[in-house]
Amino acid sequence: MPEKTGHCAVGEANRRGNHGVRHDWTIEEVREVFETPLMELVYRAAGVHRQFHDSAEVQVCKLISIKTGGCPEDCSYCSQSSRYQTEVKASGLMEKDEVLAIARKAKAAGVSRVCMGAAWREVRDNKQFDRVLEMVKDVNDLGVEVCCTLGMLTESQAKRLEEAGLYAYNHNLDTSREHYKNIITTRTYDDRLETIANVRKTSVTVCSGGIIGLGETTADRISMLHTAATMHPHPESFPVNVLSKVAGTPLADEPDVPVWDTVRVIAAARILMPTSVVRLSAGRANLSPSDQAMCFMAGASSIFSSETGQMLTKAVPSPDYDADRELLDTLGLKPRVPFKGGHPNSTKGRETSEIRQGGCAAESCTAHA
Ligand code: SAM
Ligand code: SF4
Repeated sequence: MPEKTGHCAVGEANRRGNHGVRHDWTIEEVREVFETPLMELVYRAAGVHRQFHDSAEVQVCKLISIKTGGCPEDCSYCSQSSRYQTEVKASGLMEKDEVLAIARKAKAAGVSRVCMGAAWREVRDNKQFDRVLEMVKDVNDLGVEVCCTLGMLTESQAKRLEEAGLYAYNHNLDTSREHYKNIITTRTYDDRLETIANVRKTSVTVCSGGIIGLGETTADRISMLHTAATMHPHPESFPVNVLSKVAGTPLADEPDVPVWDTVRVIAAARILMPTSVVRLSAGRANLSPSDQAMCFMAGASSIFSSETGQMLTKAVPSPDYDADRELLDTLGLKPRVPFKGGHPNSTKGRETSEIRQGGCAAESCTAHA
């Protein structure tokens, strides 16, 4: 547990009956948080992080691309869209044993969450989905949190994933409602929200965040944060991806995102959604160790790592296990164990469970006894 401090926003808010977590942010309030001078914003975010989470921990995650390339969607950032000529070669759905072998190695390297991604527009009720359900079941049996990102999902498919033991479903907002049509034309923002709503009808936790560097404005970043921060409950996980520019895609020549923009989005998300795990995801390979330290200070507490230095495809790299172990050691951080608050399939009231997962640093706190 972190060191005890004098004040607990969670305990105070518990007396008000809402755990200090707000879902009624106005767009002006989100803008005010977002436009706070950067050092002040990081200082505030670091305080919130310590009240709701164990600031000594970072979760190490592994993404396995179980079905790569050949996707019919036109997401302008994506190396896997069949609409663009990228270096990614399409391949079929992996065999379960292959996936399990990668997951076992990942666990041995300190990974506590395994995410399986498929380059699909949507899940279909076919043999391939049956195979994914088997993968979920068997990876879950290894004792790690299992996340899937498979595209659009119906309520009954979400239920089948829940029954297989799925811990989280990732479906990113990606950007603001206003900017979405400039990035993807083959589905709508409302399609995205509908899948998230279908996941919410189960006990599977929601992982939904965005990408910065898609040519969006500051107003778009604020709007995306507002959409997530007014969800009730908040997504348990909020990934912050920085565009990995992929040759052959329409966004290949977008300007670089200054690290300060990444830090600002992380810190604002930390303050607006105090119990969510803010996940520093794509684009981390371009950040120096001190850039990453700043992101952790601002409240990010999850990274994707890999054996091969490949997060999703070759075009979306990540640092490797050894480099990340060294980074966490240097910063005095330790990898988080899985299921700190119990498996959500057996835990109702997810936000409370997420608060418990983080532990509370406050002496006066009765919320986390
Ligand atoms: N087909 C599924 C879908 O779109 O939901 C899952 C595939 S993809 C692994 C999931 C997420 O990865 C995307 O929503 C996007 O946020 C992120 N992503 C993919 N390519 C990226 C890139 N080049 N740079 C940054 N993020 C990227
Ligand atoms: Fe397909 Fe997902 Fe890539 Fe979009 S982000 S092209 S849906 S794999």
